[in-house]
Amino acid sequence: MTTITEQLNSAIKTIRTNEKKYARSPQSVDLLAVSKTKPVSDISQAITAGQRHFGENYVQEGVDKIIHFNDSSLIWHFIGPLQSNKTRPVAEHFDWVHTIDRLKIAKRLNEQRPQGCKPLNVCIQVNISGEQSKSGITVNEVPVLAQAIDNMPNLTLRGLMTIGQKSTDPQVTEQQFKQMNQLFETLKKEFATVDTLSMGMSADIEPAIAHGSTMVRIGSAIFGQRI
Ligand SMILES: *Cc1c(COP(=O)(O)O)cnc(C)c1O
Repeated sequence: MTTITEQLNSAIKTIRTNEKKYARSPQSVDLLAVSKTKPVSDISQAITAGQRHFGENYVQEGVDKIIHFNDSSLIWHFIGPLQSNKTRPVAEHFDWVHTIDRLKIAKRLNEQRPQGCKPLNVCIQVNISGEQSKSGITVNEVPVLAQAIDNMPNLTLRGLMTIGQKSTDPQVTEQQFKQMNQLFETLKKEFATVDTLSMGMSADIEPAIAHGSTMVRIGSAIFGQRI
């Protein structure tokens, strides 16, 4: 049986191989281990193997895990859709939010971030494929939201996040990831805090790294299929 440790190391190897293949700087792509629905015993194995960044999609489940581990060396990323009535526990416990798609959510997180905590790191989610089923804003809406976030003292604008389209045509993914990279480069020039392009999952890690991703979000390839 393949262990979580082996699968984690294999995911890291895939990242390093693709950094080389696409002439990216060594270690310029971080691994976010997506542990949603998986038990704390699985996360413990990944921690023992050296993993520090974890992604969670559901507020209560994520907060429970953060409290369980109570380990300031771990970095917790909220990557699920966020409703405005659930922002407070996210502002109080998480280190990052990848799914900012409207001003209201940003404002609430800024207001609810406890004093004494470092600013919450945030990415704006872009719906680059334009699919109805996906959250996120359009490319044209990014500058206004980015500027508003940049003005909020308790949030740090780190960059952009997108979820790749499940397409049988690899060209579709390539084209959309290329567009995301262009938008990311533009944003970096305007905001000194921007350094993160959260793009790529188990199925599209290679095109993501080819097109500038700095953080890939890998779940099933590390922890196994979710049921
Ligand atoms: C679940 C999830 C992932 C991980 O997906 P896998 O296909 O299991 O690698 C990445 N990003 C987001 C936003 C997710 O919800």
